[in-house]
Amino acid sequence: MDRKMTEQEYVARLESAVADGSIFVCYQPKINHSTERMIGAEALMRWNDKEFGLQYPSDFIPVLEKHDLLHKADIAVFKMVCRLQRKLLDEGISPVPISCNMSRYDIFHKEYVDTIENIRVRYGIPVNLLHVEITESSAIGGMELVLLAIEKLHAYGYTVEMDDFGSGYSSLNVLKDLPVDMIKLDMRFFSGSLSGRGGTIISAVVRMARWLDTPVIAEGVETMSQADYMKSIGCFYIQGYLYSKPLPEDAFIEMIIKSEHEAITPAIELENLDAEKFWDPESLETLIFNNYVGGAAIFSYYQGRLEILRINNKYMAELGMNMDEQEILGIDLWKTVDLENRKCYEETLHRAIVSGKEEMCEVWRDICSKTCGMDKICIRSYIRLLGRAGEQYLFYAMVQNVTEEKTQIRDLEASEKKFFYATEHSNSFAWEYDITTKEMRPCRRCRRVLGLPEVIENYPEPLIETGFFQPDYADMYRDWHRQIAEGTKYLECDMPLTPDRVMFHISYTTEFDENGKPLKAYGSALPV
Ligand code: C2E
Ligand code: MG
Ligand code: MG
Repeated sequence: MDRKMTEQEYVARLESAVADGSIFVCYQPKINHSTERMIGAEALMRWNDKEFGLQYPSDFIPVLEKHDLLHKADIAVFKMVCRLQRKLLDEGISPVPISCNMSRYDIFHKEYVDTIENIRVRYGIPVNLLHVEITESSAIGGMELVLLAIEKLHAYGYTVEMDDFGSGYSSLNVLKDLPVDMIKLDMRFFSGSLSGRGGTIISAVVRMARWLDTPVIAEGVETMSQADYMKSIGCFYIQGYLYSKPLPEDAFIEMIIKSEHEAITPAIELENLDAEKFWDPESLETLIFNNYVGGAAIFSYYQGRLEILRINNKYMAELGMNMDEQEILGIDLWKTVDLENRKCYEETLHRAIVSGKEEMCEVWRDICSKTCGMDKICIRSYIRLLGRAGEQYLFYAMVQNVTEEKTQIRDLEASEKKFFYATEHSNSFAWEYDITTKEMRPCRRCRRVLGLPEVIENYPEPLIETGFFQPDYADMYRDWHRQIAEGTKYLECDMPLTPDRVMFHISYTTEFDENGKPLKAYGSALPV
């Protein structure tokens, strides 16, 4: 009958349990949820005592830890895993990488890594078939030992996975400081619905991991909706009861023979950028990103989904809405733009993908900040492709808030429109003369009644040539344009116009820029 053993019983029976096979290993497959192929497996220790039956790690591991015996059991597990891999290789069965758990108590044993390496060499197992899982909480009490262990494992060529990510030991800092090759995100640490806070944290971690170029595997996945959710945010690797419980060796071998395998691939390939350096807050890249490039953002684009991964301080300043980083990272960009603006933005992304060069667009967005409320802003973005992995693209964008510039142009267009309509309803004719380009733009009524085109270049010569002016008035009128260019503010006189020589009162008012340079002159003609 199964019964949980006591502390003394665990300690007393450990040696014999290792020797007689009471301690053995179950294997839980790791699957690519997109292709349903196996990418690896995890070795999980089991203890089936002849007298007391099946014992679980949650019971005996803390006891072994307490008595500093866990390394003995872990070395036994590592040996069993090597033995399995040897068997598969010898029988011509294609193996998958198998991960062994390394506890922080193993890390305290300085010779631990050398011991497992000797075992691997003795069994002649290629190092890529053995991974090591180190729990996030190993870093409790200091990074140095964990870092040393990881460096040593790396020197021998092992792949190191960070286990139980999200269990809470300042996860993000650990991730940044430990050079792990893969992250295991435990779904059980993110309780509650995935549409709530749990989901937000998970997707932030997946985004960040992508940025670190580190593959993520979700563990503890029990339902299809969890697996699909993970896939939707770009995490394809799954371990959990959904695909398989930990299997005894025979059942696992059967599964390996039946299933297709594939290798784990990094999340994204960066073409022009060193991701590690970019992430490091002290690096030159980060310094440049934060201080010298103006507003900038890094974002990913995947099956129509756009996610901002990183922004610099100047990006927030450009938005000018007194927002903090979290507020901006949380925004679903597509919800802030209308269809037309979205289309314009996505077309620019496609252009950037095709050209590999910087591409520009201007997009109006509705932005809501806690402090400033709702506002409409126009953002000009210069976008460049940084890298891609399959359907997933990583972009760099420099942004400028051009709302004021755009609003001024809009206002001007609106007032010009009003002005042109006003002339329609009066008895007068009006036009605009651009001093720099010498272009004249007549009002609607001029165009309709006098048959003038929308723009007359090199004004007033073409109109003089038509005989619109009496010759002496023509000379005077020419001279007016010279005076306007020299800064004359106002000109007026009565003159006969049109082939019928109808008397009109003509006046010109000049507009200047902030430096006093003449820009435009506005002319009007009223019948006398
Ligand atoms: P772990 O390394 O995070 O292993 C995953 C645990 O989650 C395993 O529990 C596995 O059976 C369980 N699990 C897998 N899929 C699901 C799921 O969909 N739902 C739920 N609820 N659970 C799932 P297990 O085998 O009881 O191991 C518990 C922990 O004990 C392991 O967590 C690991 O930290 C430790 N452990 C297991 N074997 C070893 C070992 O050989 N050496 C060391 N040092 N620790 C081990
Ligand atoms: Mg593990
Ligand atoms: Mg785990």
